[in-house]
Amino acid sequence: MFLRESLARLFACLFLLVPVLGSGILAQSTGNKAVATASAIQDDPDFARAVKEWTTRPEFISPLVDHLPKAAGIPSPKDILGHHIGEPKKLTYYADILKYYRALAAATPRVKVVTIGKSNEGRDLVVVFVGGDESIGNLENYRGYLAQLADPRTVTDAQAKDVIDKAKPIYHLSGGLHSGEVGPSEMLMELAYRLATEDSSLIKQIRDTVIVSITPVADPDGRDRNVDWYYKYGINETEGRTTGAGVPYWGKYVFHDDNRDINYSQVEMRALLDWYLQWHPPIMHDLHQAQTLLYTFSGQAPQNPNLDPILFGELPMIANFEMAQMAKYGMPGVWTHGYVDMWSPGYLAFMSSNHNGMIRMYEIQGFSGANTQKMRLGNPNGTGANGAAGSAAAGAAAGGRGAPAQPDAAAITAGRSNQAQREWFRPWPATGEFDWSLRNNTNYGETGVLTALQYTSAFSNVILENFYQKSRNSIDTGRKEAVAGYVIPAGQRDTTRVAVLVNMLRMQGIEVGRAKSELKLKDGSFPAGSYVVKRDQPYARLAKILLEKQVFPDPALRTYDDASWTMGMMSHTEVKEIGDKAVLDVAVDPVTQVKLAGTAAGAGSIFAVAHYGSNNMITLRFRLKDLKVQAAEKEFRQGDITFPAGSFIISGDAAKIRPAVEALGLTAAALPGAPSVPMHDLDVPRVAMYTTWGSTQDVGWVRYAFDRFEVPFDLIYKDRVRQGNLKSAYDVVIIPNQSGSAKRLVFDIESRGTPIEYKKSEQFKYLGGYGESDDITGGMGIDGVAEIDKFVKAGGLLVTLGTASFFPAEFGLTPKVDAARTSPQFYSPGAIIDAEILQPEHPIFYGYDRKMIPVRYANGPLLTIQTGNTFGEPPAGPPPTPQSVLMRYPGGDDHVLSGLMRGAGEIRNRPAIIDQPSGKGRVILFAGNPCYRWQNFGEFNMLFNTVLNFNDIRTPPERATGPTSPEAR
Ligand SMILES: [Zn+2]
Repeated sequence: MFLRESLARLFACLFLLVPVLGSGILAQSTGNKAVATASAIQDDPDFARAVKEWTTRPEFISPLVDHLPKAAGIPSPKDILGHHIGEPKKLTYYADILKYYRALAAATPRVKVVTIGKSNEGRDLVVVFVGGDESIGNLENYRGYLAQLADPRTVTDAQAKDVIDKAKPIYHLSGGLHSGEVGPSEMLMELAYRLATEDSSLIKQIRDTVIVSITPVADPDGRDRNVDWYYKYGINETEGRTTGAGVPYWGKYVFHDDNRDINYSQVEMRALLDWYLQWHPPIMHDLHQAQTLLYTFSGQAPQNPNLDPILFGELPMIANFEMAQMAKYGMPGVWTHGYVDMWSPGYLAFMSSNHNGMIRMYEIQGFSGANTQKMRLGNPNGTGANGAAGSAAAGAAAGGRGAPAQPDAAAITAGRSNQAQREWFRPWPATGEFDWSLRNNTNYGETGVLTALQYTSAFSNVILENFYQKSRNSIDTGRKEAVAGYVIPAGQRDTTRVAVLVNMLRMQGIEVGRAKSELKLKDGSFPAGSYVVKRDQPYARLAKILLEKQVFPDPALRTYDDASWTMGMMSHTEVKEIGDKAVLDVAVDPVTQVKLAGTAAGAGSIFAVAHYGSNNMITLRFRLKDLKVQAAEKEFRQGDITFPAGSFIISGDAAKIRPAVEALGLTAAALPGAPSVPMHDLDVPRVAMYTTWGSTQDVGWVRYAFDRFEVPFDLIYKDRVRQGNLKSAYDVVIIPNQSGSAKRLVFDIESRGTPIEYKKSEQFKYLGGYGESDDITGGMGIDGVAEIDKFVKAGGLLVTLGTASFFPAEFGLTPKVDAARTSPQFYSPGAIIDAEILQPEHPIFYGYDRKMIPVRYANGPLLTIQTGNTFGEPPAGPPPTPQSVLMRYPGGDDHVLSGLMRGAGEIRNRPAIIDQPSGKGRVILFAGNPCYRWQNFGEFNMLFNTVLNFNDIRTPPERATGPTSPEAR
């Protein structure tokens, strides 16, 4: 090391033919790329000095990353960015990150950048490949080998052995999925450079045997916005003096939920999935930033039992190797287990496990900016001494970096920090008080990743064999296990949600066929044209994970995200589980993608469009916004078609109506004249969606759904609400699920005296996206509440979703409605449960043909309606009516359809939707969230019906269709 450093300057500028260090390997130039025989490469003393300075304690670095080669002709991050990675108060914008990787790729044949798509805001999405000259020169071959292993039907076991001998695992690393977790996207640039240039035996071994691929920033739009916010506010923050507010948006729609986007709605996630299905990396490793000091995922319980047992062995093997290696390097605070479980398949890197690979994940200590900050951790068990003793030896072995400092007892706070506690899975916790820097984050992340790559290079054949075997096992599950496949029967009323479901399976690479003839199986008969998912395919286990009812393995366990996601239930689509092995042999035509093909029979200028619950109905209304559209309030027939209540009656030019209906997959017929049923006009509503500044994510999902279904709306904030006169501008105000309580919805981000501006400027051009304000603190306040109440009383429709439904109940907009919370014992991370429609003729239920429907439980308020007099006085406003409860939760364990609900009796007979008149307007409260992520498509229609029928919702006695009979329950 010393010799190399001393020679560094001498060779810094040399490019050609310099034999050094006795290795005799030559650096050569071919064209404008330096061929990477890197023995001319010396370590950069400037790097070593800077990194030592920025690393806050000697134990927070390893011998793997305390040096960096200076390779002539190949730009280091500093050559392009102007600073080494990890410099305090320096974060890199996405364009500069891309500039770096592209410069690196231009300079060495060991790096290649491919563009895989565009982000929502138009930034290039890329994958960077790093490997040996031979690997990168023959990437296409290596892609082919992995494709063969991913689909064992293409090879015999003997051929697979040959393929494994030739193949190299692709190890995919991804940073910046969460924009506030800034460190990994910086670190990955240094890692790429190191992998391409360093000549240590470890790096050579990795380079020769593994192909590394990198997503530099998974959410690049959010990256830039967060970096802007950091330079505007975060950089000036010191301990105890913070604005108290984060940047209101990362990417266009969601924050952390880009890691819960189970159906790949966001373009950035979909682009990576498309890339994945081309390249089949056996390992995908997401780099996050949250835990102290480095948590490495190992797939703890609850575990999804559909995943291969091999996987559950592999995960702790690598995690334990990392833990042992990093302890050997003297780095405390590396742990596994005890954090994220292996239940939900919706995390981004889970695309790998779902396809027989391996999800990996780190949580590295960091902050949302690049300031060095003080940390205080408890030391409840006095564990520091053991760890320090162990590391002293390792430190000496690793090159005399010295033993880490002992924990400073005086600095130990009384607070018992979980992460400072020794556990079997955290044998050497970090303790005490210390500064934490961006460079520490880089050191931990890069050391961890290099260790994982070391493992992968040492066991590359095992990893490839396992990948192959897991794929092979998946194919075998169809014949070995009880579930042989799934049938999505043809002839379902709404074909559009069937198409959505099938296309989402196809997007994930699951093979779906269309039955050539009627299926006669032990499980039942299904018409020709039914969709068939056979379980003798490589992605059979994913099909089962997505389509089956989730049976949570142990109600005593908690899970990090949702407990259920059953696609048929979420989309109100019939999906039949098949046990009959004969399903594996039925003749099918492979489905590439289901194209919507509506029908509009007959000719004329009045069309009826059947409302079968398709979410495309609202799209049709807005695509034909200039035409007169009415809703039939009763069912009627025309020819062979039954048009249920809610069907559209459209008058206008057939040349406009017909293609619109067909493109949206709807069912229509020309009518000889208007049907003789009561109808009301479907006026085009002016919609506002209210959002706080402090909680924009769940609003983002509703915005996304409205954008996808082409429903125009204004996104409004506190300033617009306070300005008043809402009724002059809007017919409908929707308050999506947000903030968790009514108080926070109203008062939002606490003001600390100084306004916090969110606005675009010359210097900060990524701020001000999706809304602007001179001061995002303070919330709508009581004045805002009064304006929303005025809006309703003047005839507006207020719709509140999920936790936002606490708001009208607790701030007096619906005086007869009370909202309570479940007990602390209650636990339901997104169970799918029954909901019972009590007022089936209410416009909100147009398109639903069953009284009991599956809904996702959203942990919203427990609503009640006061039916008796309080204190002997009649409540203000119209008398309470049981008809106000449109839908309720029957509750109890028998009505849990999928997932987990602990304490299901607590929600027994609680209202799920309440419709409350107020003045000339009304408030509709959803206790649940009918627009949850991009998932519960079966419920979206209730929200869309509410919007479409905004001025035709009547209190039951005056409703044309009359009150519902008790039998309807
Ligand atoms: Zn994260």
